[in-house]
Amino acid sequence: MATVKLTNVKKIYGKDTVAVQDFNLDIADKEFIVFVGPSGCGKSTTLRMIAGLEDISEGTVEIDGVVVNDLQPRDRDIAMVFQNYALYPHLTVFENMAFSLRLKKVPQEIVYEKVTQAAEILGITEYLTRKPRALSGGQRQRVAIGRAMVRDSKVFLMDEPLSNLDAKLRNQMRAEIILLRQKIDTTFIYVTHDQTEAMTLGDRIVIMKDGFIQQVGTPTEVFDMPLNLFVAEFIGAPKMNTFKTDLVCEGGKYYVTPYGAKIEVSGKKAAMLADKKVGAREIVLGVRPEHFKMSTAGDPAAIPCTIKVNEMMGSELHLHVETATGDRLIVRIPTVSLDDEVRHSMVYGATIYVTFEGKVMHFFDPETEQNLLV
Ligand code: ADP
Repeated sequence: MATVKLTNVKKIYGKDTVAVQDFNLDIADKEFIVFVGPSGCGKSTTLRMIAGLEDISEGTVEIDGVVVNDLQPRDRDIAMVFQNYALYPHLTVFENMAFSLRLKKVPQEIVYEKVTQAAEILGITEYLTRKPRALSGGQRQRVAIGRAMVRDSKVFLMDEPLSNLDAKLRNQMRAEIILLRQKIDTTFIYVTHDQTEAMTLGDRIVIMKDGFIQQVGTPTEVFDMPLNLFVAEFIGAPKMNTFKTDLVCEGGKYYVTPYGAKIEVSGKKAAMLADKKVGAREIVLGVRPEHFKMSTAGDPAAIPCTIKVNEMMGSELHLHVETATGDRLIVRIPTVSLDDEVRHSMVYGATIYVTFEGKVMHFFDPETEQNLLV
């Protein structure tokens, strides 16, 4: 059982560098929470305050209902895995993993049992007698995770554990962390700048910018209903297209008019606009690249654009196109939806017509950048 609660947490470095502020979060027992955001947004600082590696300037951090602000890291019952692994080069893998247990004078047979069990789960049994330098990056990362696992801690903290690995290994280790999570039943707090890692690993994601939380939610919630433009553009790859346009109301229906097209807002989105009593106005419209589809010249809902780059990704094309007003959009089109002739005509400079459906739009206030439907 381990809950973690942060209340009005603030971190000031030196006199006036505010790294984190107004941080409020309740983490449930056994929840996998991911802090995500661009470099410098305060993720690591928050994690390090939970770990006890940084002083908390204001507010409280509680683990299982106990305020830990003044407890030493070793008294907080947490385990932490760092980006750079921080293994002892002169010790074998076994001794690296056993290190914290040796410090606690745990009996030898229990050390043996815990280390071999963790090694088994992580698939590193055959490397137990090696030194870290004789391991690959992925294997070292597993040892670092194993070292944290043997401590049976209440909370497992991970700071960018995969960012030193190459792309292929990173994908593989990401899947392993998901598996590991099923096996070690504990509370995880995981820091990353990578939205894919956040989306695939987190039960809930905490999206941060400039020291402030922007949104907390499940991957589906933050993807489907981003609270503001920052979250909208940060979550999802390639990122959401956002552009100024007009929202118009006619005969009880809503339309948007991007780049001379006229597209009806439909489904839940139309009902929500009505519910929120949003009237005709200028908006920033958000449309994800995968929500575009091909159209034709005669379609009133079609946006004409010019192809600038055509990236063939295998199962889909990523088309970087330019509108008549010079805006750039990214459009994802499944390759199977195109016949060969059309596909081959999609070259630099070609004109295409794209549109999107009324139920996939996101509406933001151009001034406040907040989602108009929240
Ligand atoms: P992230 O993990 O999201 O990249 P950090 O938590 O490391 O961000 O940093 C948040 C902010 O605090 C940044 O502006 C960073 O420059 C600043 N910062 C981090 N550590 C220190 C420090 N030891 N002294 C002063 N400023 C720091």
